[in-house]
Amino acid sequence: MSPRPPTASAIEIAAAVNAGQSARVAVEAALARAEADTLNAIIRVHRARALAAADAVDTRIKAGESLPLAGVPIAVKDNVLVRGIEANACSKILKGFVSPYTATAVARLEAAGAIVIASTNMDEFAMGSSNETSVFGPVKNPVDPTRIPGGSSGGSAAAVAAGIVPVALGSDTGGSIRQPAGLCGAVGYKPTYGLVSRYGLIAFGSSLDQIGPITSTVADAALVTSIMGGADAHDATCAPRTHAELAAATASLSPSSALRGLKIGIVPEHAEGLQPGVRARLDAAKTALIAAGAQLVEVRLPHEKAAVAVYYVLATGEASSNLSRFDGVRYGHRTAKPETLGELYAKSRGEGFGREVRRRIMLGTYVLSTGYYDAYYKKAQQVRRLICNDYANAFAQCDLLLGPVSPTTAFKLGEKLSDPLQMYLSDIFTIATNLAGVPAISVPFGADATGLPVGLQLQAPQWADALLLRAAAGLMALSA
Ligand code: GLN
Repeated sequence: MSPRPPTASAIEIAAAVNAGQSARVAVEAALARAEADTLNAIIRVHRARALAAADAVDTRIKAGESLPLAGVPIAVKDNVLVRGIEANACSKILKGFVSPYTATAVARLEAAGAIVIASTNMDEFAMGSSNETSVFGPVKNPVDPTRIPGGSSGGSAAAVAAGIVPVALGSDTGGSIRQPAGLCGAVGYKPTYGLVSRYGLIAFGSSLDQIGPITSTVADAALVTSIMGGADAHDATCAPRTHAELAAATASLSPSSALRGLKIGIVPEHAEGLQPGVRARLDAAKTALIAAGAQLVEVRLPHEKAAVAVYYVLATGEASSNLSRFDGVRYGHRTAKPETLGELYAKSRGEGFGREVRRRIMLGTYVLSTGYYDAYYKKAQQVRRLICNDYANAFAQCDLLLGPVSPTTAFKLGEKLSDPLQMYLSDIFTIATNLAGVPAISVPFGADATGLPVGLQLQAPQWADALLLRAAAGLMALSA
C-alpha cells in the first residue's frame, strides 16, 4: 500500500488563500482528512476552533492583509500546548489537562495565518522510537500499516506522509522528528538548539529538546521555522536572534547551485551495520552529490560511539526532574482514595505513567542520586563535551555531514517493544546531534527494494541552518 498523494504544500496553500481562495475551504478539506484518519495518527480534531480561526483569516485577507501561512492547516504533537486544547503528551497522567496558554511556536504560526486542526499521537512523553508507548495505542506507518511510523513524533510524521496536513509540529530530543520523518518518507527538521522557543513544550530533556516541523518539502520546513523561531522572553535558552533568512534559504535553487562546491563530510562508521536498502540509498546519494559538484571528505566523530549511553544518562536525569511535577495534585490523573500524601504521590504516578516512562524516571533518579552522580551524570556531561568537540573538529574540515537517519527502514509493529536496548539503538545516528546542539534534517531519499522509505540526514554547524536547508533542498531534488 502506498500513502495518499500529499496535499498541496504550505507555500501553495498560503499563496492561494492570499490570492482570495477561502481559508475555510482549505481547512474543511484538512478536517475531513483528519476525521477519516485510519492510522491512529490523529488523536483529536479541533473542528470548531479551526473553522473559527479560518474565518478570522478570511476576514484579515479580505481587509487587505497578506499572511505568510494564510489558511495553512497544521497538526501539533500532543506535547505542544495550545490554549483551550487538551494535551496529554499521550500519557494517562495528563488525562483531562487543558492548556491555559499557547506555546510560542504555535502562537507565531497562528499569527501568520496557520490553523491548528488536530493533535497528533506520540510516544508517551516523547520517550520512544516507534510510537508504541502512547496511551492512545500505536500509529501505523502510512506506507505499510503493519509497520511502525517511527517515534516519538510518529503521529505527526504519519499525518504529513499520508497527506492529512502539509505541516505538523514535532519535538526532537534524540531524533524524534528526524527518525519518524525518515521512516514515513517526510522531511523532518531539528533546528539548532535555541532557535525555536521551548515555551509551551511539555519538557522531556530540556538541554536537548527542540520543536521543529515535519513537512513534505524542505521549503515548507524553512518557511515555518523562520516564522516560529527567534528570541522569546519566555525561554531563556532561546537565542536572541531572528531567522527571517531561513524563509529564502531554499528559494528558486537548482540542485547543483545548492550543492556545488560544498564539502560534505562522511563518517565511515555510519556505513556500518546498515540494512542493505539503506546502504544502497546512502551510496546513491554520495554519487549524486559528487555529480552535482559537491566534494566528499572523510571525517571522524571518535566519541560518537558513546552518544547513546551518554544520552540515556542525561536525558533520563533531566526527565526524572521534569516529570517530578506530575504528582497527582496539580495536573491530570489522581488515584482514587489515597490514605496518605505519600500514597497519593506514589499511586498517582504509578498508575499514571506507562512502563517506559517509569523505567526512565527510575534510571534518571538513580544517575542523579548523591552516591552515583559523579560516576554517571557528571561523567556523561564530560563525554558530552567531547562529542561537541568532535563536531567542531569535523566542521573545521567540511560544511555539512551526510549519513543515514536510521540503520533500518520501518520495522514491524511489536517487533522491538519488549527489547528496550534494541529500540534505543534505532536512534544511533540522530542522538549525537542533540548532545551537540547542532541542526539536522532528514530528507526522503527513495525507498528500499520493498518500497519502504529511506531517509538521509544532513547535519550542520550551530546556526548554519540556512546552509543546511539549502543543501537539503538540493539533496532531495537529487533523489527524484
Ligand atoms: N527515541 C529517543 C528516546 O526514546 C528520542 C526521543 C525524542 O527525540 N524525543 O528517547
